[in-house]
Amino acid sequence: MSILVVGSVAMDSVETPFGRRKEILGGSATFFSITASFFNKVDLIATVGEDFPKRYVRLFKDRNIGIDGLTISKGKTFRWKGRYDFDLNTAHTISTHLNVFKDFDPHVPKDLRKPKLLFLANIDPDLQYNVLSQVKRPKLVACDSMNYWINTKRKSLERLLDKIDVLLLNDAEARQFSGESNLFKAARSIISYGPKAVVIKRGEHGVIYFSRQTHFVAPAYLLENIYDPTGAGDTFAGGMMGYLSRARKINEATIRKSIVYGSIMASFTVEDFSVNRLLEISAKDIKDRFDNFRRITKF
Ligand code: AMP
Repeated sequence: MSILVVGSVAMDSVETPFGRRKEILGGSATFFSITASFFNKVDLIATVGEDFPKRYVRLFKDRNIGIDGLTISKGKTFRWKGRYDFDLNTAHTISTHLNVFKDFDPHVPKDLRKPKLLFLANIDPDLQYNVLSQVKRPKLVACDSMNYWINTKRKSLERLLDKIDVLLLNDAEARQFSGESNLFKAARSIISYGPKAVVIKRGEHGVIYFSRQTHFVAPAYLLENIYDPTGAGDTFAGGMMGYLSRARKINEATIRKSIVYGSIMASFTVEDFSVNRLLEISAKDIKDRFDNFRRITKF
């Protein structure tokens, strides 16, 4: 057993300058698990409503994603509606309906309580904490969050930060959480809450990884066509954790490489709406972009 993820499984409605889609498959745990499944076995802890299309459940199964921890609750699936402006860098939330996540009491099945890696994908930090408390301490615990939870559940998020290894946030969220406009200072402030490292995602400008001792910068993979950035952050985490789950050791070198895999996987997600592009690609496509990334960044 390898990677365990808790997070949202959602029906998204998305508007970008290049099109709009209603009620498409989304959610932080969805993007994460489909991406990480290219690297290793992933098990999903989440809940959906009775309205969740069966074909999406089949999609998880077809990708060998464990769904013993995916429950169907009475009520409606989580829904998120968002819009992006022309630069595609900032997601503007139009509405968030937690629906079945409001009363979700996650239960980690006994067989899944010893994951090698745990990813607490973006969802209520109390749910993230709850899942973390049910498992034997994994080798690495990473966590994502967003402005919505920083605004509404800051104390819960702080409690969680003390228990994790790596926090992933976008630049606006890092500034919001820390109250610092400079990202270096923001990272240092976040690390003072407990995590060993923070990954600040900057959309088309790539990511910066800060640990207590070092930092590492990776550009985003340059693309000509970007249609929908939704899920890029969760896909990044899926590539990062997916690669780390196969690395013999988790150290500075493998973390740096995992960040490059995260960037590459995210570059596929943004080429289409929902998880559509991820469903088309093969291991060879990933390798080709990885090799190209090396060429682009060599000097
Ligand atoms: P990102 O990777 O940051 O673009 O995340 C996109 C996904 O986050 C979408 O598919 C949404 O369904 C999901 N999402 C949006 N708001 C929330 C929230 N408050 N809690 C959990 N998931 C969310």
